[in-house]
Amino acid sequence: MRKFVYHFKEGSKEMKYLLGGKGANLAEMTNIGLPVPPGFTITTEACKDYNEHHQYLSDDIYAEMMTHLHILEEETGKKFGDETNPLLISVRSGAPFSMPGMMDTILNLGLNDQSVLGLIKATNDARSSYDCYRRFIQMFGDVVFQIPSYRFEQALTDLKERKNYTLDTELSAEDLKDLIATYKALYVSASGRDFPQDPFDQLRLSITAVFDSWENPRAVVYRRLHHIDNQLGTAVNIQSMVFGNTGDTSGTGIAFTRNPSTGENLFFGEYLLNAQGEDVVAGIRTPEPISHLEDTMPEVYKQLLDVAVLLELHYLDMQDIEFTIEKGELFVLQTRNGKRTAQAAINIAVDLVHEGKLTKEEAIMRIDTAQIDQLLHPSFDEASLRAATSLATGLPASPGAATGQIYFNAEDAVEAAERGEKVVLVRNETSPEDIEGMAKSVAILTAHGGMTSHAAVVARGMGKCCVAGCDAIAIDETKKVMQSATATLTEGDFLSLNGSTGSIYLGEIPLVETKIGGHFEELMRWVNEAKKLVVRVNADSPEDLEVGLHFGAEGVGLCRTEHMFFQEDRIPHVRQMIIAETKEERMVALAHLKEMQKEDFVGIFRAADGKPVNIRLLDPPLHEFLPKTDRDIEKLAREIGKPAEEIRQRVQDLAETNPMLGHRGCRLAITFPEIYIMQAEAIMESAIQIHDEGIAVYPEIMVPLVSSREEIAIIKNQLKEAIQTIFRKEQLVLPFDIGTMIEIPRACVTADEIAEEAQFFSFGTNDLTQLTFGFSRDDANKFLYAYQEQKILSTDPFQSIDQKGVGALVTTAVQRGRMTNPALKMGVCGEHGGDPASIQFFHRLGLQYVSCSPYRIPIARIAAAQASILEEREKVNV
Ligand code: ADP
Ligand code: MG
Ligand code: MG
Repeated sequence: MRKFVYHFKEGSKEMKYLLGGKGANLAEMTNIGLPVPPGFTITTEACKDYNEHHQYLSDDIYAEMMTHLHILEEETGKKFGDETNPLLISVRSGAPFSMPGMMDTILNLGLNDQSVLGLIKATNDARSSYDCYRRFIQMFGDVVFQIPSYRFEQALTDLKERKNYTLDTELSAEDLKDLIATYKALYVSASGRDFPQDPFDQLRLSITAVFDSWENPRAVVYRRLHHIDNQLGTAVNIQSMVFGNTGDTSGTGIAFTRNPSTGENLFFGEYLLNAQGEDVVAGIRTPEPISHLEDTMPEVYKQLLDVAVLLELHYLDMQDIEFTIEKGELFVLQTRNGKRTAQAAINIAVDLVHEGKLTKEEAIMRIDTAQIDQLLHPSFDEASLRAATSLATGLPASPGAATGQIYFNAEDAVEAAERGEKVVLVRNETSPEDIEGMAKSVAILTAHGGMTSHAAVVARGMGKCCVAGCDAIAIDETKKVMQSATATLTEGDFLSLNGSTGSIYLGEIPLVETKIGGHFEELMRWVNEAKKLVVRVNADSPEDLEVGLHFGAEGVGLCRTEHMFFQEDRIPHVRQMIIAETKEERMVALAHLKEMQKEDFVGIFRAADGKPVNIRLLDPPLHEFLPKTDRDIEKLAREIGKPAEEIRQRVQDLAETNPMLGHRGCRLAITFPEIYIMQAEAIMESAIQIHDEGIAVYPEIMVPLVSSREEIAIIKNQLKEAIQTIFRKEQLVLPFDIGTMIEIPRACVTADEIAEEAQFFSFGTNDLTQLTFGFSRDDANKFLYAYQEQKILSTDPFQSIDQKGVGALVTTAVQRGRMTNPALKMGVCGEHGGDPASIQFFHRLGLQYVSCSPYRIPIARIAAAQASILEEREKVNV
């Protein structure tokens, strides 16, 4: 017969898939001799069996559970449902991965009108016995019949008001008895049935409620977002109760072996006397800091500290521990690897290496790259945050902290942003029409919709803070008012959002840059030792490059020359170049531009200090530079001395139906070779100037949008000739490469031919994704959320590379390129160069480098190191 139930003594921490995380750790703690109240775990296999049999708990499983319940009765010397000395138990859900949205825990199960009298007899404490009973009714009602907790809380508050009490602990046994009657009536009216008196009914209903909660929509969405297998199922832990609510030598608390916000190696935690379960986090009373326990119960404190030290050494990670003290006796109820801030994560990982508990590689693998983003972006100032008023909590849809003024529609948001305000867009839900408003806002708040709603998906795509589904606020978009339980806000009022926690706060909370300390530097040194991929930066200016270098960039992977063209003083010359109808006219404009470009390149080469700099020749559709309004056209006419009418005509001639598929990239050089020639000259002349300053320099000249060997061959020869002329004149030869951007599917499939003419390939995965899917990069947001919702796509292909399609093209290009040109240098310069999952893919393809925006460089470096450590580990395992 299959075994579905495990005594805590029969399990271990390795069994988390079978026993769930909570159950596995309860077993582990039991076996290393910690004071864990006895109990057993019904496995995740039982949950699967339950689901396979149409939500039916099989007789075999039930019988096996009963056997274990009897063992528990023997161990504790108590009897389930007994009228003199009843065994009370907790029923605790526990999946293999911690999962918000699952059912909560039920405490004090086994109480009914008779056994509560038994408990009073056994404990000689009517007050705490009734307290247990009323808590049980509330938790059972909440989790088994979804009777909202606040209705019970309200009844409790009413009673306290009537009695003029401020604290729950002031309630007498009689008060609690009355409260139980009220709760039972509430239960009947809400569920339409009596509160179950049979403890076995209570137990069966609770177990099936836990299994059912595996499939509740919130849990399903959470699993989808976190890529957790739907088939895992949850375990159920049944554990004998210990009581923290039995007077002032009892209590309950949470402890961390290190500080979870700073990572400091100091015991940290909070507790409440005469309390049960989650009272500490529920904010009923202000908890005491753990240090206070040292003064009041030194013995217990010392024991708890020993437990903490032992557990951390055992798990080799910072632990988050739940404990209860019953009349001076300590019990441990849970341990898990503690959640921590990004800063704490780094400090703890590095400290553990210093303490000889982890290897450097293990420390690197512990770092969650998604969390590192937090470190590099500003967060709320802690002191101001503590003083701030929390308004409500919604879903943490897209991480980051933001503060700004609220607007209720996209138009108002855009206008306010253009006035220079920081805008928080507040909507019931967003739709594709809101895109521009979302783009211009610092954060988005919606009252409706889940983690995959339009708002959530688009905000994540934009890397923008978003709290979604905050149903505790009411939004009237026409009246432009938002209302929470405690405050009413109107247009222009300040609001602060934490997209990582889902919390929203009244008013403006200052943001601070997170300090990255010595530990971070040290970790990043280890990262460099471990990684194989070179990480370069996408930088269009010396300033971007400086930021990138500060974060550890090893060169420039993409310098987009057209970004330099947009500047005030240059645009007239750019426009003149485009408008020009003769080559002579164009040459005049190009001569001006060349001097300006040289300035830029000199700055970048100087900052790069010998590191390779990949410069992409002019790429975008020409008309992007053209004057659009009449005023602009007339201004240009004056500047270059041409009739406005002629310019207007030329602008019209240049307009394209599909500019992204139009006259751009190397197609410009095929029709107007002088443009790229000018750029190549500017690059080499500035390289020579830098060389003369005594600084090493290494330009890579990149031809964009190549789709055939012939294109690159023609252009390369023109560029080479221009460069040779300069070298001859200057009596000097400098190293340089000419290569192509690979961003058109045809280029991937004919990469063997193209590689014969190119010294390097740089994969432009943005355009490659656009062209492979036929999705417009600029508009795809309007429908991509639906694709994710309907599971057509699991992630946004513009963020994380589509390995099956786009990835296959890249793989083909790599293989074919190497076939004809073994020395070919290959890297990636698209957005994907900063995405950890994509980086792992590129690592495995054996590319030399990835390149990304300056602030993503640390993430890319860590991801590159993790990819290579993972690969090494796999080699060892086969
Ligand atoms: P969660 O997964 O939400 O942390 P838990 O199952 O850990 O839920 O339980 C919620 C609270 O109840 C915790 O504070 C826990 O310590 C407490 N608790 C659980 N089981 C018992 C028990 N047998 N005796 C006393 N307290 C318990
Ligand atoms: Mg909970
Ligand atoms: Mg817990």
